[in-house]
Amino acid sequence: MPTIVVIGGQWGDEGKGAVVDRLVGMEKPTKVVRFNGGGNAGHTVKNELGEFRLHHVPSGIFHPELKRTCVLGGGMVIDLAKLQGELFELENPKPAVEVEPRVFKVNKAVSVEDVKISLLAHLVMPWHRLLEAQEEEMRGEARIATTGQGIGPCYSDRAGRRGVQIRDLNHETALKEKLNLLYPYNLGKLREKYRAQLPSQEMILQELLSLAEELKGHFADTEEMLAEAQNKGETIVLEGAQGTLLDVDYGLYPPFVTSSHTTRWGAYLGSGVKPASDDRVIGVFKAYVTRVGEGPFPTEDTGEAAQQLRNRAKDRGSAEVGTTTGRPRKVGWPDIPLARYSQRINGFTEIAFTKTDVLDELEKIKVAVAYRLGRKSLSIPPRDIGDFRNCEPRYSDMPGWCEDTSKKRRVQDLPEEMKAFLRGFETGVGAPIHLIGVGPKREEVIDLGERNLGSIL
Ligand code: GDP
Repeated sequence: MPTIVVIGGQWGDEGKGAVVDRLVGMEKPTKVVRFNGGGNAGHTVKNELGEFRLHHVPSGIFHPELKRTCVLGGGMVIDLAKLQGELFELENPKPAVEVEPRVFKVNKAVSVEDVKISLLAHLVMPWHRLLEAQEEEMRGEARIATTGQGIGPCYSDRAGRRGVQIRDLNHETALKEKLNLLYPYNLGKLREKYRAQLPSQEMILQELLSLAEELKGHFADTEEMLAEAQNKGETIVLEGAQGTLLDVDYGLYPPFVTSSHTTRWGAYLGSGVKPASDDRVIGVFKAYVTRVGEGPFPTEDTGEAAQQLRNRAKDRGSAEVGTTTGRPRKVGWPDIPLARYSQRINGFTEIAFTKTDVLDELEKIKVAVAYRLGRKSLSIPPRDIGDFRNCEPRYSDMPGWCEDTSKKRRVQDLPEEMKAFLRGFETGVGAPIHLIGVGPKREEVIDLGERNLGSIL
């Protein structure tokens, strides 16, 4: 069976968690792997077990009926204390608050026995968070609004060969020696204000050893495990965090990117799974665009329509607020040039189009079909970030459908205006839409299976 790679097509928060949760139920993989990022990611998943927020654990965790292992890949950077809390919450969920109009009953416990962590994954150390806060302060006005989880400095240390890995936790003496080098080195980098907040070296060591003792049953040679699964022809799902436009190489570098590889290519790197020509590569796109943090956002809207979108998203149980940070997300109109760029980088074989129900009440939808840069018309964003800032979207206005689509389960039953909108998107991007999200719950989806819109409409 082919490997299925699930990638955010935009700036993250596209609904990848919900897509993976649904996909796992349909495709029944034996392994679901998160391959990049760490606690900075936040996937919200709502299903019959309740409503959950995942930061490290893959969204395939919610299918206890399947024999599947959830892997935290070697491309991840892990905050062990945070992960421990996340595993605990999955096993001991808080009762869900009833939120109208979506009412969720008491959350059920999820077994985390099958969660395995790559020995190659790196650890977010206490100094990483402090270094990140210090760097943001030093940037002043030019701050990039990081999530403050220490992810960037952790990846920098990985590249600089100063990292601590999961496998180091298996060797206490070597770990102590590593800390003997790293602790003074990082203390030296911190200014007084932040230095004062760093726990002592001994405290850090003891905390690591105690977390390792508790979590050691989850540590595994996941690369070998995945290679075996692949050799046996098992289905593997590779789940990305953040989105293509935040990729450390292909995003808007510098500085409006995350520190990891968020694209299809990062999926192979960060899991150890071999690419194959028949892999399914699913680009997840929200029906509009959102963005957290700083940086150019050509189709951003701050007017009435944006407010209408925000209200509707909130009413539909998926407010545009960061899962990890709680920060409001900026919202904007659908952007074909950006999506086309994303398609060019990843080569998506299909698209999962989410949150179309959030557009239900708009009378008009402005779709950016190209950019204007001076007198030039561009079909994809320019590489130069200064030019990108100066791009003006060229919009095509499409009529809205002004109809509740959340109960629709067949493409044929969708309003004509929505069909035209979906067709316009897939033609513009150059990949077929196979999944249409019409709500946050598992069953609120239109699955086209092997077919595509063109063959149905
Ligand atoms: P991720 O990080 O890409 O998984 O995205 P987030 O979890 O940050 O945000 C996506 C939000 O949208 C979550 O609250 C999902 O439950 C919700 N969601 C996913 N698909 C749909 C959909 O089709 N319609 C609506 N209304 N919400 C959705």
